[in-house]
Amino acid sequence: MGEFDLIARFFKRPTRHAALGIGDDCALLQPTPGCQLAISSDMLVQGRHFFADVDPRTLGHKALAVNLSDLAACGAKPLAFTLALSLPEVNEPWLEAFAQGLFALADAHHCELIGGDTTAGPLNICITVFGEVPVLGGRSLALLRSGAQPGDDLYVSGTIGDARLALDVALGKLSLPAQAPATSNAKVMTTNVAAPAPLSDELIDVMAFARARLDTPTPRVALGLALRGIASCAIDVSDGLLGDLGHLLECSHSGATVHADIAIQSIAAYAYYKRAIGQLSINLSLENWRTLALAGGDDYELLFTAPPSQRDAVQTAALASQTPVRCIGHIDAKPGLRLLDAQGQALPNPYTSFDHFA
Ligand code: ADP
Ligand code: MG
Repeated sequence: MGEFDLIARFFKRPTRHAALGIGDDCALLQPTPGCQLAISSDMLVQGRHFFADVDPRTLGHKALAVNLSDLAACGAKPLAFTLALSLPEVNEPWLEAFAQGLFALADAHHCELIGGDTTAGPLNICITVFGEVPVLGGRSLALLRSGAQPGDDLYVSGTIGDARLALDVALGKLSLPAQAPATSNAKVMTTNVAAPAPLSDELIDVMAFARARLDTPTPRVALGLALRGIASCAIDVSDGLLGDLGHLLECSHSGATVHADIAIQSIAAYAYYKRAIGQLSINLSLENWRTLALAGGDDYELLFTAPPSQRDAVQTAALASQTPVRCIGHIDAKPGLRLLDAQGQALPNPYTSFDHFA
C-alpha cells in the first residue's frame, strides 16, 4: 500500500466543518467571526512517550488527547487537527486500531482531521490542533499562564499522580502486594508451595483506573470552556504539577503556597490506600504519595487560579463540566513556591518535573 492509499484508507473522511479538508496543498478553516484561532502542537516519540508494544488504539487516543489538553488549558473550543506521522512500516491492523482510537476522541470533541504528512521512519506522531476563543469587546477570553494575581485560589482538576503510579508499576519501579493466600483445607491439600496469590479485586480496579489515566488521559475541554471569564489563568499538567505550576508563576510574576497533603488527596489511588490501610494495600510512604502528586506527570489535568470572589462560579463550572476540582493552595505576591504539610509546617521542595534535555 502506497502513501496516498494509506491516507485515503485510514485517515480521509468526509469533511464536516472545515472549508476544505484532506487532499489539497492546504486545508482551509473558517473560524467563527469574532474568534481567535488557538493553535498547539505535541509530538509523541516511541521509547520517549510510549512503549513500543503500546496498544495502537490507546496511542491514537493519547496522541490527540495531549493536544486537546492544551486547547482546554487555553479555554479554546476544538475545531480541527493535522496529523504528521512517521511509520516504520504499513501495518494495516495497527493503523486501523490507531485510527479508531484517534477518531473516537476526535468525534467526541467535534474536532476533525484536515490534513497532515506521512513518511517512512521511526514511529513518531505529531499532531497540531486548532481551536477558537471568542474576543469580547476587544478582549480575548483565552485562559493564559500570565493572569494569576496574589490572593487567587489555586485549583487542580480531576485526579493527579495516578498515571505516574501506573508507569512506575509498569516499569517495575514499584510492586504491588499480592493478596494473602487463602487458607482453606482444600487449598492446603492441593498446593505444596503457596502459589502467588492474585491482587484483591478492588486493587485491580484501582490499578486499571491508574493505567487508563496513563494510556487514555481525559482532556478537560469542557472545564476549560466553563472557566472562561472565571479563571484568572490556567495551564495543563503534563510534566508534573509543581513544574507546570513553576511555568505559571513565572509567567504571572508571582509565588504560591501549595498544601502538599491536600494535593495528594487528588490521587484516585490514594483514596483506596487510605481506606485499605492496615489491610492489603499499596505499600507507599507519605513521601512517595507526595512525589506522585507533585511531580508525577502525564496527568493532563488543568491547574488554574481564580479570585476568591469566584469560588461559587468555579464550583458551578466544575459541576457543569462534570469535572471535580480541588483547591490546593493560593497565589502569593512573594515569588517562590512554599510547600506545606497537613499541619501547616513548611516542607522542603526536592520535586523536579520532567525535562527532555535535563
Ligand atoms: P504535500 O505534498 O502537498 O505535502 P501530501 O502529498 O503530503 O501533500 O499529502 C496529500 C494530502 O494528504 C494533503 O492534503 C495532506 O494534508 C494529507 N495528509 C497527508 N498525510 C496525512 C495524514 N497522516 N493524516 C491526514 N492527512 C494527511
Ligand atoms: Mg506532504
